[in-house]
Amino acid sequence: MNEFYISALYIVPTPIGNLSDITYRALETLKNVDIIAAENIKHTTILLKHFNIKNHLILLNKDNENKQSAHLVQELKKGKKIALVSNAGTPIINDPGSILIKKCHFFNIKVIPLPGPCAAITALSASGIINNRFCYEGFLPSKKKSRCDLLYSLKEETRTIIFYESKYRIIESIQDIIEQIDENRHIVIAREITKKWESIHGAKATLILQWLKEDEYRYKGEIVIIIDGFKKLKTKSLSTKTLQTFSMLRKFLSLKTSVLMTSKIHKINKNNLYQYAIKKKSDKII
Ligand code: SAM
Repeated sequence: MNEFYISALYIVPTPIGNLSDITYRALETLKNVDIIAAENIKHTTILLKHFNIKNHLILLNKDNENKQSAHLVQELKKGKKIALVSNAGTPIINDPGSILIKKCHFFNIKVIPLPGPCAAITALSASGIINNRFCYEGFLPSKKKSRCDLLYSLKEETRTIIFYESKYRIIESIQDIIEQIDENRHIVIAREITKKWESIHGAKATLILQWLKEDEYRYKGEIVIIIDGFKKLKTKSLSTKTLQTFSMLRKFLSLKTSVLMTSKIHKINKNNLYQYAIKKKSDKII
């Protein structure tokens, strides 16, 4: 298959662990461009060597992105074809390159994105969380206060939430998710995706914490955290009579007993009422 390569910036995703995940089009592009702008020269040289590709590499990382982007734009203006690659996965997704792309748009230089590996999307596809709406939050902040503030702000986010996390902070982060979001929220830990020790494990937050603490190998390597979105309470299904019974019983009985008795009296699902009660309690209404 022969593709005609025009002068443009090509965004080329590379494997996140398994070299067979490189696409045919990515290889052809890496062969046919004039320059490859790489986040790490050594890393990309290994990749190119594996596929028998020889090409001219230029470093573009977060430290030199401004200066290097200006240079690469000049090359593009001369009619050169440039590929942008990061260490792994899709460039830009928590990787450098956005300054260069912005400049290309500004100067009307064509930007051609290639589809390919991305840890967030690959993890999401195997998470088992059924929700077509998701938000990608990148890395959780390393400072506890900022991390907790962010997590608290996402407490009632209804979309599935995707985070990247390091093995050094995963335990603390899950602890913070329990405190700031919900101890019962379903979480999936996708680790070392596409690699030999790949593991994908889902459970409610407290069980995930326990599971991780049981064996440090469960959080070695690269990690994506996926959090199920907030489920709005189905209070509409709770009739006024049910809520009246519940609040009357609650004056004399414990929360658990009030929930149990109300659900028995009105023949309703006790979990629904319990969720309602917990929500009201956290809002300090009951
Ligand atoms: N651009 C990349 C992408 O498209 O996914 C992400 C780069 S970001 C600097 C690196 C982070 O992505 C890792 O710390 C980890 O959270 C996640 N990640 C990358 N590869 C992974 C893998 N094979 N398994 C799980 N997470 C991975």
